[in-house]
Amino acid sequence: MALGLRKIILLGLIGMIFLMGNIVLIANWLSETGLPEFADHIRSNYLTGTAITIIVALLILLTGSKTRDKVFSLSRRCPVCDKRLMGNPNYCPDCGNSFSG
Ligand SMILES: [Zn+2]
Repeated sequence: MALGLRKIILLGLIGMIFLMGNIVLIANWLSETGLPEFADHIRSNYLTGTAITIIVALLILLTGSKTRDKVFSLSRRCPVCDKRLMGNPNYCPDCGNSFSG
C-alpha cells in the first residue's frame, strides 16, 4: 500500500472519529437548520411506492436498450468480427464487411 494512500486513510479515520464524537452537536445543528423536516417532506411527497417503481422500471429499460443495436449512434459494432467502429462507416476496415444502413 502506498504511503499517500495510508495518510489519506488515517486522515479519514481521524475525521470519522471527530464526527462520531460530535454526533449530538451535528444532529442539533441539522435540526436547527430544518433539514430533517425538509427531507421528510420530500420523502413523503415525492418518494412514494409508485415513483420508486417507475424509477426502477426506467433503470431496467435504459440499461436494456444499451445492448440493442442503435441506428443513430457515435459508434457501432461490426456484426461479423465484432470490432467497435467509430462514426458511421459503410464498411468494416478489418474484415471488409459492408453495412446496409
Ligand atoms: Zn468486421
